[in-house]
Amino acid sequence: MILLIQMNSSHHIILIWILQNLMNSTEYQHIENLAQALIDRWLNSDWEFRWDRAKTRLGLCDFQRKTIQLSRPLAAQQNEQQMRDTLLHEIAHALAGPRAGHGKKWQAIARQIGATPQRCAEISADPEHIGARYVLKDQQGNIYKYYYRKPTRTIQRLQQSWIRGRKKQTFGQLIIEKI
Ligand SMILES: [Zn+2]
Repeated sequence: MILLIQMNSSHHIILIWILQNLMNSTEYQHIENLAQALIDRWLNSDWEFRWDRAKTRLGLCDFQRKTIQLSRPLAAQQNEQQMRDTLLHEIAHALAGPRAGHGKKWQAIARQIGATPQRCAEISADPEHIGARYVLKDQQGNIYKYYYRKPTRTIQRLQQSWIRGRKKQTFGQLIIEKI
């Protein structure tokens, strides 16, 4: 940290950055403790908590690594209740399994463990797609992809596009919707 201050010419910015991180470190520890307590309560001991540096989503359930993850940079902008809700959202994914998505099974588990099962209208607030502005969906409302900028090229090709494995239901039927 000290080395950084000497090497960088914008002393103030670095110093403020360090101070902010120092001030937040007990809060981060607090969230870590909360995460561990929730994981201990709902999941088996194979699962563990991990911070990551994601910029476009708050939380993640990694089924391969068996980790429940939160974005360290985005956590600073959330209050404790939001972090708790995100953790429970991801734990519900771990319990529901990788194929459940945000479907009925996941929703039932989310409700059972005290997470808020978000509605379609709140997609942009979904911890896995925070800040997303457009979605690729079919006429039935199934969502296939999230975009953070207007997907101009995809829009041009929409009439000739389909979803692999669902060609019959989606060929020429896909739409891009602003959320
Ligand atoms: Zn989710």
